[in-house]
Amino acid sequence: MIRKTRLFTPGPTPLLPAAQFAMAAADIHHRTPEFRALYQRVLDQLKIFVGTKNDVLLLASSGTGAMEASVSNLTSPGDRVLVLSAGKFGERWEALTKAFGCVVDVVKAPNGQTFRLEDVRSSLKPETRAVFMQATESSTGARHDVKGVAELLRSANSDALLVVDAITGLGTTHFDIDAWGVDILIGGSQKAVMIPPGLAYLSVSDRAWAAMETSKNPRYYFDLRKERKNAQKGESAYTPAVALIAAMGAALDYIAAQGGGDLAAGRKALVDNAETCAAMTRAAVEALGLKLFAPDAPSAAATAILPPAGVDSGVIVKELKLRFAAIVTNGQGEMKGQIFRIAHIGFFDYMDTIAILAALEQVAASALNLPGFEFGKAVAAAQKVYAERTARKVEPALEAVGAR
Ligand SMILES: *Cc1c(COP(=O)(O)O)cnc(C)c1O
Repeated sequence: MIRKTRLFTPGPTPLLPAAQFAMAAADIHHRTPEFRALYQRVLDQLKIFVGTKNDVLLLASSGTGAMEASVSNLTSPGDRVLVLSAGKFGERWEALTKAFGCVVDVVKAPNGQTFRLEDVRSSLKPETRAVFMQATESSTGARHDVKGVAELLRSANSDALLVVDAITGLGTTHFDIDAWGVDILIGGSQKAVMIPPGLAYLSVSDRAWAAMETSKNPRYYFDLRKERKNAQKGESAYTPAVALIAAMGAALDYIAAQGGGDLAAGRKALVDNAETCAAMTRAAVEALGLKLFAPDAPSAAATAILPPAGVDSGVIVKELKLRFAAIVTNGQGEMKGQIFRIAHIGFFDYMDTIAILAALEQVAASALNLPGFEFGKAVAAAQKVYAERTARKVEPALEAVGAR
């Protein structure tokens, strides 16, 4: 059969066609009223998408640029910081904070797990300047408890700033970052907002702005105060990624349309969508007799799955690509060969999810030798989850028809 290439990867994620058209048409100069209007509109929309009253800034970089900006802008050499690390992206916080001369305490959880809040509490020091964590650890498919950590910092009367890499957390997790007191929350363009890589965005609290007045680490391209000053005039400090910003505007319009024109409702719908795709996938995987890598704290961004004992996960990744042009990801680093990951963040729907699970059944049938395997078991389990989770939405429509 012919094959259509489809990404099932937790970044880059599948592209929204309307955003691709907007990119292609973005032939405008950045120091013009036309661009300023676009930039201002996208920054305003992003605030709603992130769900905050804080400033939201855009940077021309991949997500890691905003991670680096939060370290360089908030810390000074010798500052004590706490990193919560349970996978490859947690390790990135460790490396980044060390690169900027911080004294780094680390709370580790094994890959596939999340932290115990008691361990976070006992590692917090009176002088801890900032806490760095992921909302969802894309390398393991685990979700971390941002609200729990935020509450803990308050109840411990800590002055530490809370910095959250929500690059795959946004669009897959419900946040209330102002109520919780998240100081910096970071997103990336190639994840929930369905556009290509190249933009990072972050929200910055008043406390974080104040901390930047005394922090001493060097910064130039990623000087957030300079970026804010320019953003207030509808401009960026340097040449912005104009085409990606146009794409982001189109994507945020699409997300708003999913909420009947209300972007906050659209964001909620996007999170619920990812949750449903993830729940369908978990049920299917268990029905097949495979094990989840992060069963206790699963994220809705991606599901990490263990291959049967003795099988390299690369075999499954390769078969899905060869037979169906479906791109799923292998484990990263030491998890390579141990897990494979199916994404749900961004532009995935019911059809995509059923299709990848049916393709996984085909691979299981020919390559996995699972005891008790039967075609349809995984898909049926996913179907049931879908029907249960969406049942309430169908009923009012049926009632309306009956009433007519
Ligand atoms: C994708 C991702 C990043 C950012 O990686 P870039 O390649 O710099 O965009 C950071 N953290 C998490 C959790 C991610 O999933």
